[in-house]
Amino acid sequence: MFGLMQHHPLLISSLLVHAERHHGQQEVVSRRIEGDIHRTTYRQLAARARQLAKAMAALGVGDGERVATLAWNGYRHLELYYAVSGMGAVLHTLNPRLHPDQVVWIADHAEDQVLCFDLTFLPLVEAVAARLKTVKHFVLMADRSHLPASSQIPNLRCYEDLVDAQDDAYTWPVFDEERASSLCYTSGTTGNPKGVLYSHRSTVLHAFGAALPDALNCSSRDVILPVVPMFHVNAWSLPYVACMTGAKMVFPGAGLDGKSLHELFEAEGVTVSAGVPTVWQGLLAYVEANGLRFSTMKRTIIGGSACPPAMIRAFQATYGVHVLHAWGMTEMSPLGTVCSFRNKHLAMTEAERLALQAKQGQAIYGVDMKIIDGNGAELPWGGEVSGELLVKGPWIVDQYFKGEGGQPLIAGWFPTGDVALIDADGYMQITDRAKDVIKSGGEWIGSIDLENIAMAHPGVAMAACIAAHHPKWDERPLLVVMKKPGATVTREELLAFYEGKIAKWWLPDDVVFVDAIPLGATGKMQKNKLREQFKGYTLPTA
Ligand code: AMP
Repeated sequence: MFGLMQHHPLLISSLLVHAERHHGQQEVVSRRIEGDIHRTTYRQLAARARQLAKAMAALGVGDGERVATLAWNGYRHLELYYAVSGMGAVLHTLNPRLHPDQVVWIADHAEDQVLCFDLTFLPLVEAVAARLKTVKHFVLMADRSHLPASSQIPNLRCYEDLVDAQDDAYTWPVFDEERASSLCYTSGTTGNPKGVLYSHRSTVLHAFGAALPDALNCSSRDVILPVVPMFHVNAWSLPYVACMTGAKMVFPGAGLDGKSLHELFEAEGVTVSAGVPTVWQGLLAYVEANGLRFSTMKRTIIGGSACPPAMIRAFQATYGVHVLHAWGMTEMSPLGTVCSFRNKHLAMTEAERLALQAKQGQAIYGVDMKIIDGNGAELPWGGEVSGELLVKGPWIVDQYFKGEGGQPLIAGWFPTGDVALIDADGYMQITDRAKDVIKSGGEWIGSIDLENIAMAHPGVAMAACIAAHHPKWDERPLLVVMKKPGATVTREELLAFYEGKIAKWWLPDDVVFVDAIPLGATGKMQKNKLREQFKGYTLPTA
């Protein structure tokens, strides 16, 4: 027997329709590349998204065709999110921080038909336009006054002209919720990047899951500022969550430095933010140096790489901003787990709670997870043994775009490539990326723990722990440290700092100081580059 309820496909356009009808006056505020602060509402934004959908159709964008963006977080990018997916085409958010050759490779692979880009990226697009095989139209996301007098870009169009040329009499088409809505490429630290093709259904279900109280805990009372770029896994779904909940949105544009962010947080009454640890480092350093506070910010979601407990402590104890440590990946839309508290945790001491928050947390409904050993056997929960982490759920990849990389699943589970522990309560803690694990005498040393300890030292700005070759143990930990400006910390002090915090055999064999640790296009430490840099490094022998 079937249920007798209405059937409405879960379409991304329904999120915008909801925001327009039920939160029409809610604001969307953007710091523009043009330099000013732009204000609009969901009502106006929805009308412009309809105009834009008509404009894209007029350019010849058909069902399932890819429209690419090279853009910061801003209202025009949000319009594209909804117009392109809503009309039945596929939004492809390109990462402008990638090398131009990679941008070309990815755009060609995706067969992008239209490329919309912010003024900042005009030089990049000018440099690559002639090499892009499939792009028919280039759209500068600005008004006519910002269009260059002459350009090598063929068919350069003006976004505002395209929008202005249409009225907003448009009804979002209704179609199968399993149809593709957006496309993101994995970072591809090994091999070519692979495309993850989200569907309307996966995106809407993920937004429901993400908004839950034990996940990102968003509501119409929130003012959300995603620092995480809209080209990094759909800004962790915040553009969808905001429309679903009716929250006010604030976009930082290109202003990701501590000063610009702090000003916007304060001026717009931001309550929730989200980003990778490296961004927060800049913000915290600025706030600390200038003796500032956060007067409205309640919590921040930190993920993308492990959040050092020292950063969690600084946010919470010094500034009263609660940290939600989250884990996920491009293949997971991206959210898998969030470290929120259960009742019993409220009675814990602050130190115990901090230790808990170093974990990436509990699975959101919709995501199931397990850890396995090298033979594929499931390992017990309890926090004793770590293994490779596998996940499954309706917003997790089934296959990569164009079947690249073959069939990734193992009996229906996606192997994340992360190594993790799961405690008796189901709180997961990433100990490493499988390829970053340090194998000392056949035993695994988790590099994240070692980095977290180093980053708690007041003289350390950033620390990466990598495997260095050892004649007896095969691999041993080498700690690579970037000091805070003016800090005088020494190798001996750092090694002494580990005392009592870890098992003796985990102690790094050596410490090297560097001016900078290489970061990837999404702000993560590139340990593969460090391993390359320190290949053949001779560790001191005891
Ligand atoms: P990406 O698909 O580029 O977002 O990268 C996903 C990977 O980032 C995951 O598989 C993890 O290795 C890492 N990652 C994401 N969030 C965290 C976190 N909170 N702690 C540790 N690693 C993380």
